[in-house]
Amino acid sequence: MIKVSNLHKQFGDVEVLKGIDETIAPGEVVSVIGPSGSGKSTFLRCLNLLEIPTQGEILIEGESITAPGACVDQLRRKVGMVFQNFNLFPHKTVMQNITLAPVKLGLMTLTEAEAKALSLLDQVGLVEKAQAYPSSLSGGQKQRVAIARALAMQPDLMLFDEPTSALDPEMVGDVLDVMKALADDGMTMVIVTHEMGFAREVSDRVLFIDGGEVVESGPPQQIFDAPQHRRTQSFLSKVL
Ligand code: ADP
Ligand code: MG
Repeated sequence: MIKVSNLHKQFGDVEVLKGIDETIAPGEVVSVIGPSGSGKSTFLRCLNLLEIPTQGEILIEGESITAPGACVDQLRRKVGMVFQNFNLFPHKTVMQNITLAPVKLGLMTLTEAEAKALSLLDQVGLVEKAQAYPSSLSGGQKQRVAIARALAMQPDLMLFDEPTSALDPEMVGDVLDVMKALADDGMTMVIVTHEMGFAREVSDRVLFIDGGEVVESGPPQQIFDAPQHRRTQSFLSKVL
């Protein structure tokens, strides 16, 4: 699904990603953990070209997204993204938020998109909020709408950047439940998260990123119970 080779990203003089090599299989659920400022968001954002890599290659479903002339629109259709701060359109209803992109891109008629939106809202437990505006929703509800909106494009891959970090604690479970159901359903997912319990339970693999490098990667049991690298051990001793 994803093949990343020698990925570098520099902001000015600062090298934030220092050569990442990673392969993610279809249906795999990968959690990305690591200290603040280590490059987790930048790594994720490179996967859908919200950041342009300064060096290296990224293949999504075998197609290079980093080659000159690669089609960003087509990439974004295949790759859904959910952000920490939801990024819903405030002046549109929940329904309009979800139907906007698929209709605008001509993937569905409005009628089709609305039917799809209702089924997605059912999936995330928010059918009754279809006509509500984002401002009337709780953080957890907003994030579930944001997930539904991303799914409306029928992506092959979903990226999550700290989807529960901005939520009150009592909202976190509902969002994680939606993500877990998606994972169980076979969606390929890359999730930057501080929810170590969730990462352990849901991930096929955990990547520990520090200083712009993947320091260690492996099944959750290995990373959490028997981390090999001193930097992983030190990080986990602070967060677990
Ligand atoms: P993380 O998500 O692991 O906390 P980020 O990927 O957001 O880390 O950031 C890694 C480093 O890159 C940080 O030092 C951050 O300040 C820097 N950085 C991120 N985005 C930009 C940007 N657009 N311009 C300059 N520096 C940036
Ligand atoms: Mg981040």
